[in-house]
Amino acid sequence: MKLLFNRVFDGAAEMYAKAESEVSAVIAELGESAPMKMPDTAYHLSCIYAYLGRKVTTLGELREALTEVKSKMTSNQRLKDAFSSGIGTAIAAEIIEAAKYARNAAPYEGTKYHGHFSDAEVRELGVPLVTRDIPGFVVIIGPAPSQEEAVELIKGYQSRGIFAFLIGGIIDQAIGGGVGLGFPVRVVPVGEDIWSVGHIISLVVRAAMIFGAVQPGDWEEFNEYSFHRIFAFVNAFAPVPDITVACGGGAIAMGFPVITDDENDIWVVPKSLIIQKNTKDFIETSLEARDIKIKVTNIDIPVAFSSAFEGEIIRRKEMRVDIDGATTDCFELVRMRDLADVEDHKIVVDGPDIDAVEVGGKMQLGTIVEVAGKNMQSDFEPVLERKFHAFLNCIEGVMHTGQRDMIRVRLSNTAYDAGFRVRHFGEVLYAKLKSDYDAVIDKVQITLVTDPAKLKALRAEANKSYDARDERLKNLTDESVEVFYNCIMCQSFSPSHVCVVTPERLGLCGAVSWLDAKATNELDPNGPCQLVTKKNVIDENLGAYEDINESVAKYSHGALTNVTLYSILQDPMTSCGCFECICGIEPLSNGVSIVNREHMGMTPLGMTFSEMASMTGGGVQTPGFMGHGKHFIASKKFLKAEGGIARIVWLPKDLKEQVRDKLNATAKDLYGIDGFADMIADESVVEEDPEALLAFLTEKGHPVLSMEPLM
Ligand code: SF4
Ligand code: ZN
Repeated sequence: MKLLFNRVFDGAAEMYAKAESEVSAVIAELGESAPMKMPDTAYHLSCIYAYLGRKVTTLGELREALTEVKSKMTSNQRLKDAFSSGIGTAIAAEIIEAAKYARNAAPYEGTKYHGHFSDAEVRELGVPLVTRDIPGFVVIIGPAPSQEEAVELIKGYQSRGIFAFLIGGIIDQAIGGGVGLGFPVRVVPVGEDIWSVGHIISLVVRAAMIFGAVQPGDWEEFNEYSFHRIFAFVNAFAPVPDITVACGGGAIAMGFPVITDDENDIWVVPKSLIIQKNTKDFIETSLEARDIKIKVTNIDIPVAFSSAFEGEIIRRKEMRVDIDGATTDCFELVRMRDLADVEDHKIVVDGPDIDAVEVGGKMQLGTIVEVAGKNMQSDFEPVLERKFHAFLNCIEGVMHTGQRDMIRVRLSNTAYDAGFRVRHFGEVLYAKLKSDYDAVIDKVQITLVTDPAKLKALRAEANKSYDARDERLKNLTDESVEVFYNCIMCQSFSPSHVCVVTPERLGLCGAVSWLDAKATNELDPNGPCQLVTKKNVIDENLGAYEDINESVAKYSHGALTNVTLYSILQDPMTSCGCFECICGIEPLSNGVSIVNREHMGMTPLGMTFSEMASMTGGGVQTPGFMGHGKHFIASKKFLKAEGGIARIVWLPKDLKEQVRDKLNATAKDLYGIDGFADMIADESVVEEDPEALLAFLTEKGHPVLSMEPLM
């Protein structure tokens, strides 16, 4: 029997040899000075950058990094050597994959494999991770003993919200078994060979740099971070070759347990390397090993319900019925009622059910949810209503978009065939509202109206409620409220980050408005959102208050002492990493460029989203750069200290369209300018040339040109 240590060392040597030959081959082909860059990341070759502190930009530097990896692959018979050899193996794996990207910027395009993850994808994981919507990650290295078992395992993880990365033969088994794959449904076919594990480690170390501000080169800190904050583990099916065992050594060093059914020549390491002969028990053993507890809400529906289905897309040909609020009368409404007027768990369907609609046809739906509770407030109505989107999307076979009377819901044939009917929308809303909001909701009754004859009048009535709420929101300004809230939800990844959420400045993730924070605070007074008073003003224009500083100092554990609400230059608010947009100063025009996560192209700062985003994060203040939510862009408080939204000189076209109306209205109010959105450049007029940007602004008479210099 070969010792476990020797299997790690032999596997590491094998990975190293492969990396060496790949690097030699690609250098022979393209030369030492050829550029080496992974797409859509500002973290270079992230494993090398993280563990060795080297920024690889050419193939020559790639070779130098490889040489350093060799020195890490020590092979004395000690645990420390096995761990560092394991990490060395992960870096070598990244190098093998990188060689593919040196030849072709998109080597996996058109294949079934995902390959490299963009920084935007890493950031997208921020919110679901902190809310424990994604309770963990599994890396499955297969094939499983059978296709059925592969499907069962993947679906088992999916139904628990666990994000699954697949490597090797399990991918074809998943495809053969009809499992939907992709980043949005949280099952990602990473690659065919074991070295594609490099992409996963790259994602992990970037999470540590982005959210945790872990410094490149600090090997120990990376392992600390992944151990404490990334709930990952590995399932490796027998037979496990040495090269995979070596990767397992790396995983264990990072704090990720490995569960396998391979009994040959594998030694057990308590809590870290676990043999589970019965592959059907992989899930249970894995969750226990990584100490992941999953909250289950029992919902009486005939299909699965899990956050993993949130990103599921139902195509037209898979669609049983289309509930289309854009062309017909549909709406969703939450109303607060007196306790005596609500009968708990009463669900009424008023009108024909799905059976009456031809396959692929349209139907109408108005959802009225009446809630009552001793601690309920009418301010929570919109907070609850906005949750419908997430709740209904978690149903397997349901796709939901929009809100209020502009909703669109698609139901798949599969869900219909399984027995899903209109009533089940009610069951889901009932169960989730009761379990997630039990602090404010005592009773819920739901009416699902599908009768077109009744919907017109009901929709008009619902619109009156929306209008009344909008009126209230309009009057809800930073000045009109007594308190703000801080949010420290992201501290599980960014230990010193604190968001201050005000009526006019929502959390940078875009998911937490002042009302949301208020509701969160009332639901759980010791939870992530705390009251912040604003009694002692230091400077109103900056949004600087003594009480806010005190609160931030307390909740950042002393890391931050001064924060302003309205400035990008003086003590700006920090970022965790999951911001929707990033804004940075464009010196030539004296303005700022804003770019959202979805935009892949260049900006006039000469940086992409990823590159700009890498300038800030991890709870550190970085004057000149600021992460923020989309809805903050049109706020009267946006960059108020620097003159307001008139500083915005560039926005991606898509984003501009999303905020156009509000932006124009704010500019009209603040400066009396009409059509401000059209004065702002986008990628259709200029991508990365500041001179061209300035020319455009001059032509449009953009107000920034007459403002004081920023710096
Ligand atoms: Fe994280 Fe801030 Fe959003 Fe809270 S408001 S979840 S701290 S980004
Ligand atoms: Zn965050």
